[in-house]
Amino acid sequence: MNSANIRIVLVNTSHPGNIGGAARAMKNMGLSRLVLVAPRKFPHEEADWRAAGAQEVLQQAVVVDSLAEAIADCQLVVGTSARGRRIPWPVLDPRRCAVDVQAAVGRDEQVALVFGREDRGLTNEELQACNLHLHIPSHEDYPSLNLAMAVQVISYELRMLALEGQLPEASTDEWDAPFSTVENMERFYQHLEETLVQIDFLDPAAPRQLMARLRRLYGRVRLDEMELNILRGILTETQRAATAASPPEKAGD
Ligand code: SAH
Repeated sequence: MNSANIRIVLVNTSHPGNIGGAARAMKNMGLSRLVLVAPRKFPHEEADWRAAGAQEVLQQAVVVDSLAEAIADCQLVVGTSARGRRIPWPVLDPRRCAVDVQAAVGRDEQVALVFGREDRGLTNEELQACNLHLHIPSHEDYPSLNLAMAVQVISYELRMLALEGQLPEASTDEWDAPFSTVENMERFYQHLEETLVQIDFLDPAAPRQLMARLRRLYGRVRLDEMELNILRGILTETQRAATAASPPEKAGD
């Protein structure tokens, strides 16, 4: 995805910290074009602090007077809103919206993602200037995210889509110890059972399903040899401590 075709537009932002936070979120996700429509305070040291290592995004930010100016050359304009359906309009969540944005960028179109004011969001008129509306499906008790966090969520979804197929699968390919064999696991279960009987946790006369449940537990985890050795060591020490606490009665005593 050519991120140079995507711009983040912040309308009338009140808090410079949010501008910095948005810049950081953008750079983290590989976006760099920030357009500020009549920001209340910018440039501002608070924006710089919050941007941290993303100050170049702020330095390159374009400041304009109106939303119309910010989006004039765009072919796809997405308006974001903390409320679901303020006016009947196509509304997408960030994941589905990312698909449309990617398709537009693939056709070399210019795309704007427009964010509203901290206190009032975007006006109806501004939302009507957008092709699509995007709503992060937040909880209805408190649907409004912090502005920079909304930028983060949306740019993260764009990045996830752009990286599709390139991220490593969750795998145990490079595990640091070999996984235990069935044979070694059986030895461990024997040792475990012996120990549990010795400490009176398991009554051999009424075993219930204890060993089956423990097998299921360790089977789910899939232990490696190192982990197995640690558990065997714990069992050995447990047996030793139990023997010391109550030495077995000697025959004939
Ligand atoms: N009180 C305002 C909230 C504005 S939050 C309102 O009700 O509209 C500031 C900006 O953050 C919003 O304009 C929008 O751009 C973004 N935002 C916050 N929560 C969002 C959500 N759940 N989905 C999409 N954008 C959101």
